[in-house]
Amino acid sequence: MVKDAEAIAAGFDPEKPLLILDADEVLLRFMEALEAYLLGEGYELRLKSFAITGNVYDRHGVLVAADHVRELLSSFFTARTRDIEPVPGAADALAALSADWQIVVLSNVPSAQREARAANLAGHGMPYPVIASKGGKGEFVATLTAGLKAPTVFVDDLPPHHASVARHAPATHRLHMVADPRLAALLPPAPDAHVRIDDWAAAHDHIRTLAGGIRLRP
Ligand SMILES: [Mg+2]
Repeated sequence: MVKDAEAIAAGFDPEKPLLILDADEVLLRFMEALEAYLLGEGYELRLKSFAITGNVYDRHGVLVAADHVRELLSSFFTARTRDIEPVPGAADALAALSADWQIVVLSNVPSAQREARAANLAGHGMPYPVIASKGGKGEFVATLTAGLKAPTVFVDDLPPHHASVARHAPATHRLHMVADPRLAALLPPAPDAHVRIDDWAAAHDHIRTLAGGIRLRP
């Protein structure tokens, strides 16, 4: 909620750079976990495009309707949010960056699962505050970065969030990351991101170069 973003932003050091991270497909292997869950429920995810709706089939090979996919996603978050595996290298990269950067996770996880998400991340060595957002992330990022004098960086796999941040918080540097290699192959670089990097070793090096810089202009 935006209220949570305001509360967390109140504790920021305005002189210290800020890293705002998505969770699914940036810190956590969401698609692998969803696939495994769906298989257990008798469904198959066929990744023909960068989408969930339109790619789920039942055991008879029949395409599952959008409403039912939404219900399956909701059950997935309830059942599995606590137990999703981390993206390789993410925890180490963030531990190294945290010497210079303030870090917050901005995730469109259902708000009822916010605590499970934070516990899951902390269990994998990523004990950072988690904000449960909804819809486009631009207004959340604008709230989090208001009043900061140091560089701010946003990392997400979904192009619409980069567009939203470009609109509402244009001075924030936008890194497009798609951790799952199969998904990465299906999705071109987000037009509203400054850079596309799909692995954490390279992302770490890129983000480090930004720490000492002045805030980027739109
Ligand atoms: Mg994501």
